[in-house]
Amino acid sequence: MRRTEFKRGREYTVQPIRAERAQKVYTCPGCSGDIMPGTAHIAAWQADHIMGDASALADRRHWHSHCWKIA
Ligand SMILES: [Zn+2]
Repeated sequence: MRRTEFKRGREYTVQPIRAERAQKVYTCPGCSGDIMPGTAHIAAWQADHIMGDASALADRRHWHSHCWKIA
């Protein structure tokens, strides 16, 4: 499920969020649009975060799957 991806020279951990687990509205950093509850999407955070995994996790962002793909 969880995977690692490289974007612009940085390593990110990417966690797919299933539709039934998406229960809040998130703002997608890719398009500034809302990710509505019940929408499958992804959460991504920096895997090589300078402050460590806990900080990186706190900084995670929710993206539309397609916005992340083209980001
Ligand atoms: Zn988006």
